[in-house]
Amino acid sequence: MDSSRTFPADLSRELLDDLLAYKALFEGVAEIVGDGVVHLDERCRIVRFNAAAERLLGFSKSGVIGTPFEDLYHASNPGDPFDGTAQANPVRMVLRDTVGEAVPVLARAAALKRGDTVEGWLLAFAANRRVDEIEQLKNELVSTVSHELKTPLAAIKAYTATLRHNPALYESHRDEFLAVVEQQADRLSRLVDDMLLVTRVETAQLLKRRTVVALDGVLERALGDLSYDPAAHPIELRTSGVSVSGDPDRLRDIFRNLLENAVKYSPAGGAVTVSAAQTAETTTVEVRDNGIGIPEDHLPYIFDRFYRVESGAAAEAGGSGLGLYIVHALVRAHGGAIDVRSEPGKGTSFFVRLPLR
Ligand code: ADP
Repeated sequence: MDSSRTFPADLSRELLDDLLAYKALFEGVAEIVGDGVVHLDERCRIVRFNAAAERLLGFSKSGVIGTPFEDLYHASNPGDPFDGTAQANPVRMVLRDTVGEAVPVLARAAALKRGDTVEGWLLAFAANRRVDEIEQLKNELVSTVSHELKTPLAAIKAYTATLRHNPALYESHRDEFLAVVEQQADRLSRLVDDMLLVTRVETAQLLKRRTVVALDGVLERALGDLSYDPAAHPIELRTSGVSVSGDPDRLRDIFRNLLENAVKYSPAGGAVTVSAAQTAETTTVEVRDNGIGIPEDHLPYIFDRFYRVESGAAAEAGGSGLGLYIVHALVRAHGGAIDVRSEPGKGTSFFVRLPLR
């Protein structure tokens, strides 16, 4: 456009009014949107900084206007988070707040052009809660599960070392010690399975295929995963002829966890029974034990991630607190529901209701 062109006085006044109205509109919109909006000049210095950006990062407008945008980058960015190209799809970047703490965001950038010349940038960003949550999950996994990993590892190491260095013990106790090693290795393997399932729960990649299968077969496979003493914990299956619909591997995970708990939280001699009822639309499976039960005030929380009853007999049994969280997520992913009924000292029943489609 030829800027030297002159306009009739009333037209230029009209244009100016329009421009001012647009400017007010832009500034109004930028102030009320929930995303942080930052306007940068061609050298990436901050020209505007909206209210949401102030809220997200804690800096005030007056403190940052005129400063380079890169001063707001957190040191943990893997590369240059904003390379000066328009980014229609959100990109992850880590900004920082006033005390230098990381604020993970998802950002979009648009180039402000006059003709072919870039005159600045508009950058919109929102807090990337997913990153926060995954970071938190990672920390929780590391702190909770590493303890659970150490216990069986220490047992495996102690038993193998004892056998290796004591030829006499090797002769007399080999089978007994190796059985413990095998049991602890199984425990480790189940814990690793649970950790992998938790990461899948978090990314919602839970079910691969769905078929109608015999419940008996699912339960047999789940029992095959458990290390338990059938003489101390007889498990009775009253499920013949009943079908369930779902991903067979995930159904096995559901019942493996419920059966493992039924055995783990029952004293020796406690019987475990699995029974089922089927209608045209649903199958309801009950896993019942005569174990220690769950105190009423804990019941609302047992399906929460990492929740464990840390008192009485329950505290003595080790665990990561992931089992029922996984079970709940898997049952929900199948379109089903899970209920619990429990009486301390008497036993617990879990009811898994799964649609048959
Ligand atoms: P954990 O790894 O601790 O077993 P879960 O998520 O499987 O974790 O279970 C959460 C808590 O619920 C357990 O710590 C235990 O106190 C309680 N619980 C689960 N199943 C039973 C059961 N069958 N009988 C008694 N308590 C149970």
